[in-house]
Amino acid sequence: MTDRPAAIITGASRGIGRAIAISLGAGGWDVVVNYRSDEASAKGTQRQIEDLGGACRIFRADISVAGDRRRLVDFAKDSFARCDMLVNNAGVAPTNRADLLEATEESFDRVMGINLKGPYFLTQLVANWMIEQVKTACDRKFRIVNIGSISGYTSSPGRGEYCVSKAAMTMMTRLYADRLAEFGIGVFEIRPGIIETDMTAAVKEKYDKLIADGLTPIKRWGRGEDVAQATLAIAEGRLDFSTGQIIDVDGGFHLRRL
Ligand code: NAP
Repeated sequence: MTDRPAAIITGASRGIGRAIAISLGAGGWDVVVNYRSDEASAKGTQRQIEDLGGACRIFRADISVAGDRRRLVDFAKDSFARCDMLVNNAGVAPTNRADLLEATEESFDRVMGINLKGPYFLTQLVANWMIEQVKTACDRKFRIVNIGSISGYTSSPGRGEYCVSKAAMTMMTRLYADRLAEFGIGVFEIRPGIIETDMTAAVKEKYDKLIADGLTPIKRWGRGEDVAQATLAIAEGRLDFSTGQIIDVDGGFHLRRL
């Protein structure tokens, strides 16, 4: 086991997860980068971290599958023998946006499986491992970050299952924050707004216009790095007397304005 802290970041082959992995790697963390299918991109993340002098291992696992979650945690144990931080970042939008009155149960199950059930039970596994570590290394700090969304409180009837999954993640954060506080494990939700990634590529033009027209007080797209900076603040212990906290990284989208 090294002296450096270690993190598991789900869905870190691209987008927000990649930015988080790179900023932790650059900050002296050992990083396990999880991905589901895109190995070339995961290797790209790994290369960037190694170029910055960090240590990174990549692991394919579908977080909606119980066996994959167990294998991911076993891989992290074999790789770095410690886990100081879990970032539940992997998430998907519905494959087809469908109106609430027509959307299918199949899409609901897929989105909830990846966005809610996966992180819920991955957190259970990692939290139990963290509790074991607390017993033998009481000088270390442990933290869990869930990547939620403004969709957790904003109605989009064209992707209801996504909104429901992110709303539930807020309660998941509260539950784990409550249960794990006695072990000194902090649990946070970071709530991104409109971030320029593959997930939003299909609606880029629509959001370009909405942002230009003042949808967000800060008139620009968010970047993965914006979310990574907030994650790093938690990783570095700047919020250690907080838990269950929601951190909006959304250009002020959450403000109600008249
Ligand atoms: P993205 O660019 O589409 O990347 C998604 C990542 O998740 C990829 O690395 C993908 O791996 C991985 N992934 C997908 N399904 C997975 C599964 N079943 N198991 C493991 N990994 C899986 O998405 P993003 O925009 O960075 O979004 C990251 C998170 O931020 C999501 O939770 C999303 O809901 C949230 N968010 C995004 C925005 C936004 O505007 N972009 C706003 C608010 C919240 P592969 O490439 O291998 O498939």
